[in-house]
Amino acid sequence: LLILVTRPVVGVTDGRTDAVTSAPELSTDAGFHFANASLPQLSVLDLGVTRGDGVFDSLLVADGRIPALETHLARFADSARLLDLPQPDRAVWRAAIAAAVATHPPVPVLAVKLVLTRGIEGTGVPTAWVLAQPALDFTAVRRTGVKVVTLDRGYRHDVAATSPWLLQGAKSLSYAVNAAAIREAQRRGADDVIFISSDGFVLEAPTASVLLREGNRFSTPSAELGILPGTTQRRAFEFLRTYGYETDAVRLRASDLRRADAIWLVSSIRQAVSVTQLDGEPVGVDERLTEQMNDHLGRAGD
Ligand code: PLP
Repeated sequence: LLILVTRPVVGVTDGRTDAVTSAPELSTDAGFHFANASLPQLSVLDLGVTRGDGVFDSLLVADGRIPALETHLARFADSARLLDLPQPDRAVWRAAIAAAVATHPPVPVLAVKLVLTRGIEGTGVPTAWVLAQPALDFTAVRRTGVKVVTLDRGYRHDVAATSPWLLQGAKSLSYAVNAAAIREAQRRGADDVIFISSDGFVLEAPTASVLLREGNRFSTPSAELGILPGTTQRRAFEFLRTYGYETDAVRLRASDLRRADAIWLVSSIRQAVSVTQLDGEPVGVDERLTEQMNDHLGRAGD
């Protein structure tokens, strides 16, 4: 189910409000339109397509609600700021997301994607949409876990401070590098990747945050390392604290990965998956805790 957001950013109207809708009965003047996802909706001149110049966010719908919706919207706004895009009008996005969720036919798990691009070259008018679609089924991988290789991201741990134009920590549309890293992992007989900074610090996976367990202490690389602040990592830590575990965001060395009792990759749609192998070496797995974490993450919570 596709919604074109016609008033995506604060203080900008694009005048296209009447342009698109294949379902007039669902039209709205709330700053967005329902549209037909099987019909062409996007210009080949859009900088989101030609340059990957834009931002996105992916949200899980649990029990008809979106856990940590406001955290996702805040991150979407931060990503836009890092790319010097105008600020999303949160009231419009909130309403568009709610409409997409409310009108999507029932499916086991629904995922919602928000996209804001720099728009058609030369117009200065952003393009924006909300897409609600059935989520891929990750039930099996949540049980089996993933084999991971570490790969050098090629940037130092302080890249966000020294070179903000590299957009580390923004959820930009340019995910070709992330996809290439996953293909490299597959060439090496693995499923996924943990990126390491050029100076040896653990960063994140191409589409997930990294959690480590040592005894009763859980840690994750801190967001100042030019990584995406994960909404799932945050929710997982809230959950783990209710079980009495300690949690911390820190600087971790690649050697800390090898010492860990267990490692997880966590993200909104796939949720928590155990790392079963790291660079060919087995890693401890806690099936029960993984299941408990996923039960929690799959519920609406806040
Ligand atoms: N890091 C990267 C690079 C990601 O792309 C994602 C999600 O897609 C995450 C971390 C995890 O973020 P979240 O838990 O909010 O889905």
